[in-house]
Amino acid sequence: ETLANQIAAGEVIERPASVVKELVENAIDAGAHKIDILIEAAGVQSIEVIDDGQGIPTDQLERAFLRHATSKIQTKQDLFQIHSLGFRGEALPSIASVADVFLETAVVDATSGAMIHIKGNKIIEKKGSGARRGTKITVSDLFFNTPARLKYLKSQSTELAKIVDIINRLAFSYPSIAFNLVHNQKQLMQTVGNGNLQQVISAVYGVSVARDMVTIDDHDADFKVQGWISKPELTRSNRSYISLLINGRYVHNFNLAKALIKGYGTRLMVGRFPMAVLKIDLDPRLVDVNVHPQKFEVRISKENKLLALIEKMVAEAFDNVNL
Ligand code: ADP
Ligand code: MG
Repeated sequence: ETLANQIAAGEVIERPASVVKELVENAIDAGAHKIDILIEAAGVQSIEVIDDGQGIPTDQLERAFLRHATSKIQTKQDLFQIHSLGFRGEALPSIASVADVFLETAVVDATSGAMIHIKGNKIIEKKGSGARRGTKITVSDLFFNTPARLKYLKSQSTELAKIVDIINRLAFSYPSIAFNLVHNQKQLMQTVGNGNLQQVISAVYGVSVARDMVTIDDHDADFKVQGWISKPELTRSNRSYISLLINGRYVHNFNLAKALIKGYGTRLMVGRFPMAVLKIDLDPRLVDVNVHPQKFEVRISKENKLLALIEKMVAEAFDNVNL
C-alpha cells in the first residue's frame, strides 16, 4: 500500500507546487471562501493550507488518506460529469507517503474537530481538536524518504515561481474566493474574493499594470469574450503571461493565444508577448476537455470562428487607444 502510494506520488506529486495545487483544489472542492497558503523555503520546508470549507467528519478522516477510497468516479460516464477538481482520491495518500502531514479539521456546527498526524503513510497520532470550521493541513519534510526526487528539484526561486503561478491561475479561475499567499512570512499575493476578475488581475499584476490594460468585451451567437491586455511598453519576453479562462477554468490553448497575438499585430515587437487574461464563455457542449489530471488542454468546436473573433476584437481595441 505504501509502495503504491509512493508510485502514485511519483505521478501526481512532482514538486512542492504539485502539493500546493492538490491542497488548494481540495479547499476549493470543500466550498471554501477564504484560503490561506503559507509557504516556507519554497515549499520544501513546509506548505500550510488553511480553509473555511466544509471540513472532514471525524469518522472519515483516516479514509481520506486511503488511496482511491474517496474516488468520485464509479463509471466512465462519471468522468464527463464531475464538477469537483479532485476525483481520483489520490492526492492525500500520495502526499502523505512522501511527507510529514498534520491535518486538523472540523465540520460546520461541530462542537469539536479532529487532527491526524501521518508521516510516510504511517499514522503517528490521531486525536480530537478544536471546532474551528474548516481544514488546516501542514505538509513538511517533503520527499524525506525519496531523496532522488528531492535532488531533482530546481532552485528555490524556480520552485516558488511554480507555486505562485498555480495560485495566480486558481485566483483567476475563482474570483469569489479570497486567496492569501505568504512565503517566508512575506505576503506575495492577496485577493479579496468579491467575484471581480479585474480586481484579481490587479492583485496578480499590480494595480498600475491592471489599470493600464486595454480591455475587450463582446460576444457573438456562440462566444462571449472578455479580455485584459497589456500595452506594448508592458510586454514580456515569453508567452507565459497570457492566461486563458474557458467557462471559468484555466486552460492552455496555443491557438487562442496566437489569435490574441495576431490581433496585437505589428504593435508587438518581435520576441515580446503581452500580459493578458482572456475569459471566454460558451456552451459547455462546445468544449472538449482533456481529462488528464495534470493537463489543461481543451479543444473547442467552431474554433476558427472564435479565433477570428478574438483577433478582430483585439485589433479593434488597440486601434481605439492611443499608444
Ligand atoms: P480527491 O480530491 O480526488 O477526492 P484527495 O486525496 O485530494 O482526493 O482528498 C481525499 C478526500 O479528502 C476528498 O475527497 C475530501 O473528501 C477530503 N478532503 C481533502 N481535503 C479537504 C479539505 N480541505 N476540506 C474538506 N475535505 C477535504
Ligand atoms: Mg483532491
